[in-house]
Amino acid sequence: MSQLTVLEHSSLSSFEPNTFDNSVMNTYGRFPIAIEKGEGCRLWDTEGKEYLDFVAGIATCTLGHAHPALIETVTQQIKKLHHVSNLYYIPEQGQLAQWLVEHSCADKVFFCNSGAEANEAAIKLVRKYAHTVLDFLEQPVILTAKSSFHGRTLATVTATGQPKYQKDFEPLVDGFAYVPYNDIRAIENAIADIDEGNRRVAAIMLEPLQGEGGVRPGELEYFLRLRKICDENNILLVFDEVQVGVGRSGKLWGYENLGVEPDIFTSAKGLAGGIPIGAMLCKDFCAVFEPGNHASTFGGNPFACAAALSVLQTIERDNILQNVQARGEQLRVRLRAIANQDPHLFTEVRGWGLINGMELQSEIELTSVEIVKAAMQAGLLLAPAGPKVLRFVPPLIVSEAEIDEATAILEQVIAGLN
Ligand SMILES: *Cc1c(COP(=O)(O)O)cnc(C)c1O
Repeated sequence: MSQLTVLEHSSLSSFEPNTFDNSVMNTYGRFPIAIEKGEGCRLWDTEGKEYLDFVAGIATCTLGHAHPALIETVTQQIKKLHHVSNLYYIPEQGQLAQWLVEHSCADKVFFCNSGAEANEAAIKLVRKYAHTVLDFLEQPVILTAKSSFHGRTLATVTATGQPKYQKDFEPLVDGFAYVPYNDIRAIENAIADIDEGNRRVAAIMLEPLQGEGGVRPGELEYFLRLRKICDENNILLVFDEVQVGVGRSGKLWGYENLGVEPDIFTSAKGLAGGIPIGAMLCKDFCAVFEPGNHASTFGGNPFACAAALSVLQTIERDNILQNVQARGEQLRVRLRAIANQDPHLFTEVRGWGLINGMELQSEIELTSVEIVKAAMQAGLLLAPAGPKVLRFVPPLIVSEAEIDEATAILEQVIAGLN
């Protein structure tokens, strides 16, 4: 038997969580199942149990699992060329950048491998712009929002406005300050407070919709005012589109829901449908990086770029944004009906396209993780977004029947909790 045959026929049914925990570092609170294979919006664990996947690798598997277009692209690409250094021109990287520039407000793209890394690139770009263009500002400050999430590296965990992620990792990185989300007065006050000598606000970095922080959409009025304030005060507006971008909101980019354009934005999670990639995009006027300023060994390699291009072209060709809008509307209607049956349990359902949250009453003991566990047992995978919000981020190809099925399961699970 060839090695490949052995692999195809072997099953993980002998999977042992204890052996796993003996050697894998203890950084995640894991649910006690191991996923073995997937197709479309379905996953199967090592016991053969089937799940409807409304997590999608946390808003990452844009085209679901084992999508024919992605399989074909990555198979062809790995046979041809999978990695080469940025010492040379990489045609697939150029094609992907061109697609992104043609389909967004950005003029230039830098490629990396994750959301945190894309945000790091944005933070470095802001600082270089401040030092070299903005009156040679020596102490640029980046304002971010409370309840935000920007990643786990030191600079991005500092940017993340949630102390629980920062605890025990001090000293944090200098040059960040925090304001409540969707609060324009707080922004105005912070800009005034921080203006002192060579220290002032150089950028405001926000998610168009806060994902991890509880699926909180940005408010139109707030973002319109914010854009004006940035223009009037020479402040860069940076959007973290890592979770909400690439069609998830029903538009290609989250900012399209807010009627404003950022100067810089970042993308990652769904960009290559689950193949690791990140991107930092910006307008020409602030594209101040020069050779030697920033780099990534894997960034923009042919394999990841071909995968991303395939995902984006499939979104376009198959009218997937239309599906996201229709299925999102269907999902919110169903979830609101469920929430309205139990007003003592739920406060509200909110979201855009296929990133939606269902919030639990704060005074009850029930947490989102408890519902996630019960739903998992009933065959539906959901993710919490903080202790009180259930997050629904299925693949963007989810069908009408699958939304019906998922919400029927959830309804039963909640009836079982009462
Ligand atoms: C997930 C996420 C990140 C971090 O992305 P990684 O790929 O895990 O580094 C950053 N920002 C937002 C909004 C995210 O949702």
